[in-house]
Amino acid sequence: MSKTIFQKIADREIPADIVYEDDQCVAFRDVSPKAPTHVLVIPREPIPSLEHLAEENAALLGHIWLVIRDVARQVGIAEKGYRVVVNCGSDGGQTVDHLHFHILGGRLMDWPPG
Ligand code: AMP
Repeated sequence: MSKTIFQKIADREIPADIVYEDDQCVAFRDVSPKAPTHVLVIPREPIPSLEHLAEENAALLGHIWLVIRDVARQVGIAEKGYRVVVNCGSDGGQTVDHLHFHILGGRLMDWPPG
């Protein structure tokens, strides 16, 4: 199976503004930000979407949530607040088939989302 663009970013084959990485995940700024601060967190493992998660991914998911907390602090949006979004499938608005968590901050978020 060919690599997604996010897999290529994780493998450093294409450039991205990486703000954090470890052995399990990578966080980088969205190339087309939907808020003043917009960071994506991806697992290094090429899981296509939430729908493809397995029980064995539970520890990875727990780790990613802690990374999201830390990255939000690092990029300066934790104090005022932020939103975390995971789009799943075509109706969910997912356009890249590699599980990713959007961290959005720096402005007041609307509710409900569009
Ligand atoms: P989604 O619509 O939930 O699949 O989100 C995909 C996100 O990836 C969008 O917000 C895009 O702007 C972002 N994106 C696409 N290509 C890149 C890239 N090369 N570097 C950083 N972000 C990207």
